[in-house]
Amino acid sequence: MNITLLVPVYNEENALPLFWQATQQIAQQCPDITFSWLFVNDGSTDASLGWLKQRAQQHPHVQIVSLSRNFGKEAAVTAGLNFTSVQTDALIVMDADLQDPPNLIPLFIEKLREGFDVVYGVRENRKTDSWLKRTTAGLFYKAYNLLSDRPMPPHAGDCRLLSRRAVEALRMIPERERFMKGLFNWIGFKSISVPFTRQARAAGKTKWNYWQLWNFALQGITAGSTVLLRLWAYIGICISLAALLYAGWISLQKIIYGNPVSGYASLMVAILFCSGIQLISLGIIGEYLSRIFMESKQRPLYIVDEKINC
Ligand code: UDP
Ligand code: MG
Repeated sequence: MNITLLVPVYNEENALPLFWQATQQIAQQCPDITFSWLFVNDGSTDASLGWLKQRAQQHPHVQIVSLSRNFGKEAAVTAGLNFTSVQTDALIVMDADLQDPPNLIPLFIEKLREGFDVVYGVRENRKTDSWLKRTTAGLFYKAYNLLSDRPMPPHAGDCRLLSRRAVEALRMIPERERFMKGLFNWIGFKSISVPFTRQARAAGKTKWNYWQLWNFALQGITAGSTVLLRLWAYIGICISLAALLYAGWISLQKIIYGNPVSGYASLMVAILFCSGIQLISLGIIGEYLSRIFMESKQRPLYIVDEKINC
C-alpha cells in the first residue's frame, strides 16, 4: 500500500528535522507500507526549502512542490492534493510542527483498511491553546454548525487521511475561496474520527494571529452557508411588524387617553437601531460580494515555482 504524507511548509526550518525523524520512525514500524512525503513549500523565506531539497536528493520518496510565494495553508494543501501521485492509495495531511502526532498514522491506516475513506483526528481537549483561542474556536464551531447545512465535527483539525477517491473528489472542487475543513467534510464518504491530544509546537511559532483567525472563520462561514445573507429579510419583517404594532399603540394612546406623542429619545433609539441593523446587513452583503468578486477573477489558487520528484 502506498501512503503519501502531505505536509504544508511555511518557514519551518526548526521543525522539519524533528518531523522528518519522527515520521521516518513511524515508516520503519510499518514495513508493509510504502511511504512518500509530499512537502509543499508555501513560499518559505528561511532555510526550509534548502533542507527539503537535500532530503529529496537522498530519498526518491520525498517530493517537493515549491510555490512562488506564500499563498496560505489552504492553497498549499490544495496544491498537494493536485500533485498527489497516481500510485498513492491514501493521503495523510499533516502539519510540519508535530502538533499532529505522527503516531496517528498507523491508527489512520488501520481505519482505511477497515473501509473508511476519510479518517480525521479530533482534539480531545485544547489544553495547549490559550483560553481565548479555546473559547473563540468553540464559538466558531457553534456558529458554523448552526448556519451550515452540513455541520462539521467540532475540534477536528486539518490532520486527516483521505482515500484515493476522497482525493479525487476534492480535486473536482474548483472554488478559490477555500475552507478546506468544510470541503473535507462536504465530500461525504464513510468517515470516522480518531481522538488525539494536540501537542504544543515542536519548534518555531504559529503563523496565525487573531485577526487572521477571525478572517479565516468568516471565510469558513461564508463559504459554507448563505443563511447570513438571507437572514435580513426576516429581521426586516420582524422590525417592520414591531414598528407597526408600536404605531398602533401610540395611536391608541393618543385617541383614548389624549397622551401627547412622546418623542426625542424613542426616535433616536429607533433610528440608531435601524441604521445599525442596515449597516450590519450591508457589511454582510459586502462580505459575500467580495468573495464573489475574488471568485469571478478566476485566478489560479497558487503558482508553482519548482517541482522535485513529482
Ligand atoms: N502553513 C503554510 N502556509 C501558511 C501558514 C502555515 O503552509 O501560510 C503550514 C505550517 O508550516 C504548518 C501548518 O501549515 O505546517 C500549520 O501552521 P501553524 O502551525 O502555524 O498553524 P496552527 O497549528 O497554529 O493552527
Ligand atoms: Mg501548528
